[in-house]
Amino acid sequence: MNGKKDYYELLGVNRNASEEEIKKAYRKLALQYHPDRNPGDKPAEENFKLVSEAYQVLSDPQKRAQYDQFGHAAFGDTGPFAGGFDFTAGFEDIFGDIFGEFFGGGTGRRRSRGRGEDLRYNLTLSFEEAVSGTEKKIKIPRHGPCETCHGSGAKPGTAPQTCPTCRGRGQINFQQGFFSVSRTCNQCHGQGTVIKEACASCGGAGRVRKLHTLSVRIPAGVDTGSRLKLRGEGETGPAGGSPGDLYVVIQVEPHPIFVRDNLDIVCEVPISFVQAALGAEIDVPTLDGKVKMKIPAGTQTGKVFRMKGKGVKDVQGYHQGDQHVRVTVETPAHLTGRQKELLKEFAALGGEDVNPLTKGFFDKMKELFG
Ligand SMILES: [Zn+2]
Ligand SMILES: [Zn+2]
Repeated sequence: MNGKKDYYELLGVNRNASEEEIKKAYRKLALQYHPDRNPGDKPAEENFKLVSEAYQVLSDPQKRAQYDQFGHAAFGDTGPFAGGFDFTAGFEDIFGDIFGEFFGGGTGRRRSRGRGEDLRYNLTLSFEEAVSGTEKKIKIPRHGPCETCHGSGAKPGTAPQTCPTCRGRGQINFQQGFFSVSRTCNQCHGQGTVIKEACASCGGAGRVRKLHTLSVRIPAGVDTGSRLKLRGEGETGPAGGSPGDLYVVIQVEPHPIFVRDNLDIVCEVPISFVQAALGAEIDVPTLDGKVKMKIPAGTQTGKVFRMKGKGVKDVQGYHQGDQHVRVTVETPAHLTGRQKELLKEFAALGGEDVNPLTKGFFDKMKELFG
């Protein structure tokens, strides 16, 4: 989005503010603009959303680094967070963290049958890893069943009890006119059981957050912005629910020599003006090592040579790009006296014919100015 306000400005902190400073600034602003304190005040609500968004990015070291590097583009349509970052996922955490102490306990944990949240992991690869594929171990913070209560949420030694309100059915029937209507039980949220004494390790949720190590096979040919979907590797589902998916979003580091253009590789190779003039065989770096390439006599600077099939294979392995070698003719510097003499001699010998571009240029000048 254009015209978006700078996240640091929104929070009123400078760019090298510490995590603690950012948190403090956000807390102050969020309390000021919180909808509970400004009922019906639209501008306050808008400000509250903006500062919350800024905080969500700046409080996450990975997102903050992306933002510092790419600005709002990091979260736009083509940035590494393309598709919009998940505003709701971290929100509950922020509230639990920041407001827990203010609003008495923060958000209550709902236990509902549903699907676990999708998770996003930003993975940085070297150029070579992206081209050749690799296997990476990544650590995903996600919920797992609580080991203390084995997922029941009940204090060890106790067991979840049949919900007294719905008698374990999870649904409540009531009469409305002639109809019998059923709705989800309020007390057990449809679970059919209630916990009398909550497990101290998980607070009754039945699950706890842990770092989960995962091995991810990265196919050859991925590029910045590629997303890998790992089905079922997202957040653990709530009791009885299926897990979410994990999206690994790729960011490729720049290479000192190669630049990638889709499946093509572009590289720039300097040659001497003698090589350019007389022709030469030069060493060119490719993805599979050095390769000899012929430079024809009379090569001009900027000339691009195509090496077919020396580019990147696509992820499916069907296509392979080319390598484009752009030669730059280097003007010699730091000449010795003898070298200067020889060049002067060379200049004296060379008529217009040895410099085709210069000749063409002066012809055009003549046409213009007579
Ligand atoms: Zn537990
Ligand atoms: Zn119930």
